[in-house]
Amino acid sequence: MATPLSPDKLLAALKAEGLNVREYKSWRTHRRPASAGAFGSINGVMTHHTVTGPGTDVVALCYNGHASLPGPLCQGVIKKDGSVWLTSAGRSNHAGLGDADVLRAVIAEDYGDYPPTDNQANTDGNRHFYGFECENLGDGKDPWPKAQYVAMVKANAAILRAYGWTAKSAIAHKEWQPGKVDPAGIDMKKFRADIAACLKLPPGKWGVAPAPPAPKPALTVEQRLAALEKRVTTLESKVQ
Ligand SMILES: [Zn+2]
Repeated sequence: MATPLSPDKLLAALKAEGLNVREYKSWRTHRRPASAGAFGSINGVMTHHTVTGPGTDVVALCYNGHASLPGPLCQGVIKKDGSVWLTSAGRSNHAGLGDADVLRAVIAEDYGDYPPTDNQANTDGNRHFYGFECENLGDGKDPWPKAQYVAMVKANAAILRAYGWTAKSAIAHKEWQPGKVDPAGIDMKKFRADIAACLKLPPGKWGVAPAPPAPKPALTVEQRLAALEKRVTTLESKVQ
């Protein structure tokens, strides 16, 4: 039985990965009411796209929800710039009803490149999964900037690391609920491979650009003359 992370633990796990974490409004206490259902046992992390573009305050939208779906709509929003905005530490409206066979495979962390086909909607996903809503139009053309993709991998890894789980506990909404396509354009086999690579390293080390090589020290006049002399000598020997 994995219980939900406390707000402090969730925040610390994300920050440890080196993420740019932002705390939105009353995220620590903002959650679906108990009458909507339980939160936990926690079994994994689910990734989504928001179907929003520039001009939408995507964090406010995911915090408040909308007429047909009350917020919060996820625990965290990952914007195009890679910033991670916490909107809830409790139950959120992101996963809907999904497939019990998928949940079983995730709990066992036992499946191949992809979990079993999600052809049933019989299990409350909001109870069992953390959700990250990632800013993207979801049309399959809107690109995933590097900064955002790296943040998505790290945010998943942060929670998996906190529980001691592998990348197989990270799934997409499109792998959970029949008819869903999000996150569009993300191949979950590669996404899980990147999460696995992140988990192999200490927190905060994956996806960091290596430091550029130190510039060569400038040559002294003597060294330049010596090098020139060597080249001339070589040329002369070839001419002869
Ligand atoms: Zn979704």
